[in-house]
Amino acid sequence: MCQEGCSPMYCIVAPEMVNNILDSGTPRQKRWAERMKKKAERIRERREQKEMREEERKKRKEEKEKRREERQRRGTLDQLNRKVIDARNPARNRMEGGNTSEDEDVNSAYDFAGIIHEFFLKEFNRKSIDDAGMDLVATVHYREDDEEFYNAFWDEKETSLKYGEGDGSIFKSFARDLTIAAHEHVHGVIHYSGGLLYENQSGALNESICDVFASMILQYRNQEEARKASWVIGENILGKVVKGSTGVGLRSLRAPGTAYNHKRIGRDLQPAHMDGFIKTKEDFGGVHLNSGIPNHAFFLIANALGGNSWENAGKIWYNSLMTADDSLKTFKEWAGITIDQANKLPRNIRDTAVFSTEHAWKLVGVL
Ligand SMILES: [Zn+2]
Repeated sequence: MCQEGCSPMYCIVAPEMVNNILDSGTPRQKRWAERMKKKAERIRERREQKEMREEERKKRKEEKEKRREERQRRGTLDQLNRKVIDARNPARNRMEGGNTSEDEDVNSAYDFAGIIHEFFLKEFNRKSIDDAGMDLVATVHYREDDEEFYNAFWDEKETSLKYGEGDGSIFKSFARDLTIAAHEHVHGVIHYSGGLLYENQSGALNESICDVFASMILQYRNQEEARKASWVIGENILGKVVKGSTGVGLRSLRAPGTAYNHKRIGRDLQPAHMDGFIKTKEDFGGVHLNSGIPNHAFFLIANALGGNSWENAGKIWYNSLMTADDSLKTFKEWAGITIDQANKLPRNIRDTAVFSTEHAWKLVGVL
C-alpha cells in the first residue's frame, strides 16, 4: 500500500517528465503517468506541508539523540545494517551479512547502501542516514496498488527507500543506479539534519543537495577526480528507447538543461542560472527544475578546487547542511552559509575555497 506522502515528493523522476509521458507514452506508460499525476494533485490539494516547523524539528532531534545514546551504549553506532526487501518474492530478501540474493535488484540495492554508508562514515563521520546508526531499509520491485511504478523515492513515513522497476523501454530498474540510491538516501540525511521544506527555493535546495551528494558518491566509488567526472544523475536509468544521442541521464550538474531530449519524455528544462529561474506551482514550485542552479554552483566550485569533490567542496556542503538552522532557506541564504563554511576550511585551501565559492554563486546569478 502506498502512503500518502510517497509521491511525487522525494521522487527521482520529475513531474515534468511525467507530463510528457502522459502526452506521448505507450498506453502502458500513460497509465502509470496518469496515476502519478492524480496522486500529485491529491497531495497538492490537501497539503499542509509545514511539518518541518520548529516543533517537529525539535521532536525529531530528541528522538534521534535517544537512539544515538542507545546504540552508543550497545556499541553498534558505526555498524552497517542493511535490509533489502523484494516486494515480489520475500524468499529473495537480503539482510546484513546474508547470502547473495537470486534477484539482481536486491543485490544492487544492498551493495549501493553499503557504499553510501561507507562514504558518509569515512568522509564525514556520519553514522548512517540519521547519524544515529539507523538500519538502511529498502524495498525493490516496489509497486503501488499492484501497479507498475517507474520511480524511486525516500519514504519519509517508513524511513526507508522504495525502488520501482521501470518499464524496460523508457526506464530501466531504479535499483541499478548508484546515483539514484544515493539521491534518495540523502533525502533521508536532510530529513534528519533539520530538513529543508520541500517547496520553492528550499525545496529546490533539498533536491539539489541530493543530486550533489549523489554525484560525489559515484565519484567516490569510482575514485574519480571532480574534473574528470560526468556529473550526470541517473546515467544507467534511461532505457534503450531514450538513451543515446538524445539522452545521457536524468540531470546534469555540469550542464543543467542538457541531460535528455526525446519526444517520449520531453526535454531537460533545468536552468543553470537565476535568469532562467522557473516560477511555477507545479512540482512544489519547480523543485526538480530550479535545483539546476545550486547544482551547477556546486559543480563550478568542485571544478575550481580540483582533486576529489568530496574533500573540499563536499565538506563545505555537508557542514553547511549541518549548520543550516532553518528549513526555509533561500538560494541566497544557502550561498551565504557555504561561504562561511568555506572560510572554516584548513588554511592551505581556505582563501581559494572562499573565492571559488563566492565566484560560483555569482556565475549562476545567485549573488
Ligand atoms: Zn529527490
